[in-house]
Amino acid sequence: SHLVKTVTTQEGDLTILSGINLDVKPGQSVAILGPSGSGKSTLLGLLAALDTPSSGEIWLDGSALAGLNEEQKAALRKQKVSFIFQSFMLVDTLNALENVMLPAELAGIKDARERAKAMLERVGLGHRLNHYPKQLSGGEQQRVAIARAFISEPKVLFADEPTGNLDKHNADKVADMLFELNRESSTTLILVTHDMQLASRCERQLEMHEGRLYEQGQQTPAEEAGLHEAKTESQVSAASV
Ligand code: ATP
Ligand code: MG
Repeated sequence: SHLVKTVTTQEGDLTILSGINLDVKPGQSVAILGPSGSGKSTLLGLLAALDTPSSGEIWLDGSALAGLNEEQKAALRKQKVSFIFQSFMLVDTLNALENVMLPAELAGIKDARERAKAMLERVGLGHRLNHYPKQLSGGEQQRVAIARAFISEPKVLFADEPTGNLDKHNADKVADMLFELNRESSTTLILVTHDMQLASRCERQLEMHEGRLYEQGQQTPAEEAGLHEAKTESQVSAASV
């Protein structure tokens, strides 16, 4: 709760997130909307234990992140979390199949190769198994990243613009997959997206503005300007996922 993220830059300290309170229930699907630079990716990084807050607490599936060392955090991520990054983050020296297999192998899943193949077929890349990231289009790389995120059956899936580089057909397919996983394995979905159609399929919509988070429907500072009533800050109670 009261998550704050400040970074030190050449121009001094910069507060990216100021006082975020968020409680996501297991299995819930949440869309985070908001303008570029408002802090969405930074928040996802904190929630997924990839980065550390300047202050405030984060709980991930019952574990308080503050009490864990880097090794324990890495183990927690491996077991419970998947992340689809805005910039894919595929391993350049591995082909599509190997990229998808990797987390399954790390998690000790036996039929990793078969499952990776099936996942890639599901995202329409059965004919690109041996291609390296450089030999794939942006949308294809995104689909490899999605297949990779799904393979270890995570408790929580964080996705930063999962449909950002896809055409309508593939965006719909990816969205279907996300919600299938959400339903079948009760994976919690936390998605950053500008895609209103994807956001509207989530159970809950949040909006980020200048490092603060608002439930959708609530007044944002921009909307409040010109009005005299004080805004109420997000009432959700703790930063737990
Ligand atoms: P977009 O929709 O463009 O992806 P975002 O909402 O994901 O935007 P963030 O990437 O979270 O935005 O960044 C929020 C702000 O914090 C931006 O202004 C960014 O420049 C700044 N920022 C993020 N990380 C750092 C850092 N390590 N050092 C300095 N500034 C940073
Ligand atoms: Mg971002």
